[in-house]
Amino acid sequence: MIKEIHQKLVNREITATELISGYFQTIDEKDSQVKAFLSLTKDEALQRAKKIDEKIKKGEEINILEGIPYAVKDNMLVNGVKATAGSKILENYTASFDATVIKKLKERGAILLGKTNMDEFAMGSSTENSAFFTTKNPCDLERVPGGSSGGSAAAVASKMSVFTLGSDTGGSIRQPAGFCGVVGFKPSYGAVSRYGLIAMASSLDIIGPLTQSVEDAEIVFKTICGKDPMDSTSYNLEEIHNTQYRIQNTVFGLPKEYFQEGLDGKIKKTIAEVIKKIKSKGATIKEVSLPSTSYALPCYYIIMPAEASSNLARFDGIRYSPISNYPNLHDLYFKTRGKGFGAEVRRRIVLGTYVLSSGYYEAYYKKAQQVRKLIAQEFDKVFQEVDFLITPTSPTFPFKIGEKVDDPLSMYLSDIFTVSANIAGVPAINLPCGQADNLPISMQIIGSYLSDFSLLNVTKTIEDIIS
Ligand code: GLN
Repeated sequence: MIKEIHQKLVNREITATELISGYFQTIDEKDSQVKAFLSLTKDEALQRAKKIDEKIKKGEEINILEGIPYAVKDNMLVNGVKATAGSKILENYTASFDATVIKKLKERGAILLGKTNMDEFAMGSSTENSAFFTTKNPCDLERVPGGSSGGSAAAVASKMSVFTLGSDTGGSIRQPAGFCGVVGFKPSYGAVSRYGLIAMASSLDIIGPLTQSVEDAEIVFKTICGKDPMDSTSYNLEEIHNTQYRIQNTVFGLPKEYFQEGLDGKIKKTIAEVIKKIKSKGATIKEVSLPSTSYALPCYYIIMPAEASSNLARFDGIRYSPISNYPNLHDLYFKTRGKGFGAEVRRRIVLGTYVLSSGYYEAYYKKAQQVRKLIAQEFDKVFQEVDFLITPTSPTFPFKIGEKVDDPLSMYLSDIFTVSANIAGVPAINLPCGQADNLPISMQIIGSYLSDFSLLNVTKTIEDIIS
């Protein structure tokens, strides 16, 4: 998709201005229903498009992303643009600098259309926790688009943007991508700078692309990845790590814990058919075991709130407060946090402070860190036997809006297949692989730590096999 648009711009079949105006028109037509966008950056986008058109007119070369429209989840900072993170507490906050990913995309000439809706502070699996409104699944407007990057997934699925960026702490790129039927890539931890991403759980958070094809995901990832002096956990993922797997020489593992009860029968069947096709092309398929899988979700729901509660401590009302009327400092804190944060965020702050509190720290947080180590070791071990793992992305189809809002535990179960990759820091990608009852079915392919480029490559091959 990106390559084709690029070619059209180069061949002057379309101008950047026409391209960008066309996308805003699609947004005008569709977004009143889908509600993927929280804000638009139309004037700036059109100005940028004009400059690119002048460049093309002069016969200057343009690079692959120049003039390509994109949107970002509202927890990433864009200088001069509001960044709410889906929260009332940041309703009036305007960013004063660019996140590193934005800086890189700007340098390459990609054009920002706007910011996309999300669950408040990226906590949720449906965008129903957004303080503003719920995004609808473009495949069925009565259903959720997944979350927390639901706006980013819906924008790509409804062709309101060529690509978007999301963030993934426990599945927030892959699960909504799966629910909306688009590609969503969660890179290895540290492969993309988190500078300018409003933090949820810093040891799990990562930014990645949502796109219509794996090739597009690769183009965007190549642009945004790399070491950043502003994020000490980032590093350069040299392309040396890119082993070109031929499907005949590739071993795929099917972790048996991911195909047990709770998985929808139609999803199971579709993935089984894809696996058959891959096998018929000569790949080796092997059943493997990741025995600690059942501890991944409880482990995540201790580590994530612990880190989130510390990260959110900065919203004390001294900065970013939506409250202007308060009699004393104590009241400022209470009113800001009480009114500014929604129910799910408050729930996780309480959980997080509890598991970190003296007397409980050893029993919960420390234990969860030990389990985390165990899960990471199991991945290391399994990747000595197989090259990649294939699993479902989500156990169910996109659910109806409102179906799970009053039942946080059942909402948390949406992440059962995605959290492990964040816990272990390994790269994982959502690939749409079928449909049932007009709803998308997706699978997840997981690679070993730092195998991002190889994973993208092998996923391209699978995408070709199933299309
Ligand atoms: N849905 C998960 C949660 O609610 C994952 C969130 C995320 O990846 N940001 O925590």
